[in-house]
Amino acid sequence: MSTTPQPVPPAPAPGTGPSWTERYAAAVMNTFGTPQRVLVRGRGAHVWDAEGRQYTDLLAGIAVNCLGHAHPAVVSAVTQQLSTLGHVSNFFTTTAQVELAEALIRLVHPGLDASDSRVFLASSGAEANEAALKIARRHGGGARPRVLALENAFHGRTMGALALTHKAAYREPFEPLPGGVEFVPADLGALQAAMGEDVCALIVEPIQGEAGVRPLPEGLLTAARRLTREAGALLIVDEVQTGMGRCGTWMAHHLLAPGTTPDVVTLAKGLGGGLPIGAVVATGPAAQLLGPGQHGTTFGGNPVCAAAALAVIRTLRDEHLPERAAALGRRWSGQIAALPGVRGVRGAGLLLGVVLEEGAGPAAEVQAELMDRGFIVNAPCPDTLRLAPPLVLSDADADSFTRVLGEVLASRASRQEQA
Ligand SMILES: *Cc1c(COP(=O)(O)O)cnc(C)c1O
Repeated sequence: MSTTPQPVPPAPAPGTGPSWTERYAAAVMNTFGTPQRVLVRGRGAHVWDAEGRQYTDLLAGIAVNCLGHAHPAVVSAVTQQLSTLGHVSNFFTTTAQVELAEALIRLVHPGLDASDSRVFLASSGAEANEAALKIARRHGGGARPRVLALENAFHGRTMGALALTHKAAYREPFEPLPGGVEFVPADLGALQAAMGEDVCALIVEPIQGEAGVRPLPEGLLTAARRLTREAGALLIVDEVQTGMGRCGTWMAHHLLAPGTTPDVVTLAKGLGGGLPIGAVVATGPAAQLLGPGQHGTTFGGNPVCAAAALAVIRTLRDEHLPERAAALGRRWSGQIAALPGVRGVRGAGLLLGVVLEEGAGPAAEVQAELMDRGFIVNAPCPDTLRLAPPLVLSDADADSFTRVLGEVLASRASRQEQA
């Protein structure tokens, strides 16, 4: 047996050999389909592909890059932290981790006594929801085996988070999943009927992002708080996509249900501005349910990610970006909703679902045409485009998208007339 390491094959010279997409297909597991472009660089709300073409990024890594690409505050925080202390185990703590936990408690529950809340730091949204589910189970003991989630919910792809995710195509190939989860329509009567003293928790997204940017019906979140409190169940609010200022307030539940205090709030996506980090903010008795040895993760609270999140929070606050998201979102969604071919715009702030008229054809085709015209969006469902741009998007970039979307929809309509 040879102990000599195998040499790594050299990359082909530029312009020869297989393309990046071919090499991707030969080396990367096929979980995401064929990548649309090979991206090499980003700055603010713009990215560039390997062929030098520029795009306006209206998806921001799916609601992640809230400060855009290569924001100097994040670059400097990460660089400084990494060159000082890049990682420690959770046998230790770091100043960045403690400062972040304190900041998150104040952000999520601005009016509340901070001493009532505790934070668990993770590395993704799914992991934050896994921890929330473990908190729910601890609350349930044997007497409360049921967990309620909403129809069309998306809470992530790990086994626990997947059990809370409604789409059968995501769930069924991986059954059996953790049991006890029931899906309830986002409707007061249905929630009322399902709630009971054998329920340990209800988990909701204030605006269902992956389902096509669908806000909960008005008043439902407030009612969910009342119903869970009466039944003694926990209310878990998944703000992974909607939090961190994206919907025009720090948390979307601040907008949809002012004054409501969930027992557990989960965060990720925008929190790290591009660095992988998730968080669970638990309040009241729920904050005490996970004890020593009951949960853990090696990377959770990593100081580099925590420093990035602190820089994100500071910049969002100093540059009033939640307010900017609210104002730009209001104006932009009004203008987009007025375009021929657009049936309406759902969502809040800079998390918007543009619902197309049937005549516009599949949203995935419109998305591809927009990409060819230099705009990155996505199509979470067959009739809807999702916009989740950096909160630093300029008025000019927003306006040029509105113009180009209008042109794309008009040309599709006239092509259809000729056909
Ligand atoms: C994206 C998302 C998740 C999963 O987060 P990951 O970081 O991809 O694991 C969970 N909940 C919601 C609402 C999301 O949008």
